[in-house]
Amino acid sequence: MLAAMNLLPFEPQPPYRSRRFVPERIDLGDWNQVAPLFDKLESAAAAPTPAELERWLLDGGELTAALDEESSRRYIAMTCHTDNPEAEKAYLHFVEEIDPRVKPRQFKLARLYLEHPVRVGLERERYFVFDRSAQVQADLFRPENVPLETEEAKLSQQYQKLIGSLTVNFRGEERTLVQMGRYLEETDRPLRQEAWELTARRRLQEAGRIEDVFEQLLKLREKIAANAGFPNYLQYAFKWRGRFDYTPEDCRQFHESIEKEVMPVLRQLQGRRREKLGLNTLRPWDLSVDPSNQPPLRPFEKVESLVANTQEIFTQLDGGLARDFRLMHEKHLLDLENRKGKAPGGYQSTLAESRLPFIFMNAVGIQRDVETILHEAGHAFHALAAREEDLYSYRSAPIEFCEVASMSMELLGNEFLEKFYAPDEARRARRQHLEHVVDIFPWIATVDAFQHWIYSHPGHARAERQRAWLELMDRFGGDVDWSGHESVRANLWHRQLHIFLHPFYYVEYGIAQLGALQVWCNAKKDKGRALQDYHRGLALGGSRPLPELFAAAGCRFDFSRQTVQPLVQMLQSQLDNPGE
Ligand SMILES: [Zn+2]
Repeated sequence: MLAAMNLLPFEPQPPYRSRRFVPERIDLGDWNQVAPLFDKLESAAAAPTPAELERWLLDGGELTAALDEESSRRYIAMTCHTDNPEAEKAYLHFVEEIDPRVKPRQFKLARLYLEHPVRVGLERERYFVFDRSAQVQADLFRPENVPLETEEAKLSQQYQKLIGSLTVNFRGEERTLVQMGRYLEETDRPLRQEAWELTARRRLQEAGRIEDVFEQLLKLREKIAANAGFPNYLQYAFKWRGRFDYTPEDCRQFHESIEKEVMPVLRQLQGRRREKLGLNTLRPWDLSVDPSNQPPLRPFEKVESLVANTQEIFTQLDGGLARDFRLMHEKHLLDLENRKGKAPGGYQSTLAESRLPFIFMNAVGIQRDVETILHEAGHAFHALAAREEDLYSYRSAPIEFCEVASMSMELLGNEFLEKFYAPDEARRARRQHLEHVVDIFPWIATVDAFQHWIYSHPGHARAERQRAWLELMDRFGGDVDWSGHESVRANLWHRQLHIFLHPFYYVEYGIAQLGALQVWCNAKKDKGRALQDYHRGLALGGSRPLPELFAAAGCRFDFSRQTVQPLVQMLQSQLDNPGE
């Protein structure tokens, strides 16, 4: 079909269920071949019986899955070969020529479905989640918001461009701010300070421009919410993000639980770090270095041993997971090593029609790679667990639960790090990981609470916004000495891209971590049962509301102190004794 398809690391896999609506031979990158299928669906929407309507939904899902997989394959080919212009062209063609034409057609189908007279005859339990999502999509759609959303996307891009363009001259060489990050792990303290100050000053120079972009985004978002009939963007965003199962009030409870239960542990860890480093106060450049001043961990040399050792970890954990991971390896659905011509970062992508996961990484032999493979494998297990589900949208869960699948694997897998390390190194790696779990909660609470404040105070002044941020830094920042760098602290949120690009999208990670910690605690008591529950939750895909997905996985969907406290206690006892 397309030359770019030969660039995939794996053989194209057949559909998991043979097609019955989409022709077997079709070029999904050619709109003239795709459009008649949407026409056909529209005219078939007059399905007279509930059974025919269900079949119609499955046909629509088959088409969506085929398009989705085509898009994923092109994306994978491009990220595996960034130096191949054909691959880039093939992907961009899909994004520019197919996606925008598909969206309005799908919206039309959703409306036909919602207005369908026999829809009430469908089993309510089965379609409850599907219907509420379709309804929200239809309710929120306003044609006058379409150009505002385009404007919002352009402004977001401006922020990204601005941040991405920043460089500093460090010891005679020009470096990006991302490249500067690694100096914060150096054991040479004056070097760390120099690198940190240089980077912070460079960001601060752009503070005015960053605030300007943000205020334009803020105005647009308030307008979008008003157009859709909401009193503020906070309430609009909760609907738009499909947060059916928790409220802004629940998030405030989450912030409170973090403040009361996690902050004391964070302070204790910071105190220990300060003592170990032999310092009077912790400065912002002392937070990433190994507190015992040891060189970075080296878990593996070659990617083959990353795969083999990870395989052994899953064998220790569970036969089913071991089988799933082996399948991925055998089918070449793992592209892990860093090499020239690969896009940066890592991701897991699901091939929607063959219902198979693919993992992309840039492993270079650091501890972070081990955490990443465990994390992405969790997402891959999720995709495989939900494979039998035939309704397309039910094969994937909301992000709050997807990340339970992945973060649980980080925690469970980290118990077997001896596959990669000598015992004392394994303890060090485990400790690093668990410290990071503690660290991230207060930051998530800060970023989330800040956005709650911003979007419920329309018309606020820049200085008021800064005050609100500083109050949160007092609440969640812990014991770090910022003297001489007060303005850096006051503008720290400028570096959190979600606030600019994906408003309100961040607390999901905190919610999911609460779930993952529960799976981990369950496994400490009864590993077999915890993994059985984990699999049961994953197998539900996105077919049930969040509280039910959590419950199936053996967790409570609850942000109260009562839920958080035992999890933090477990973290603390493991941090005191990371050998267990
Ligand atoms: Zn993830």
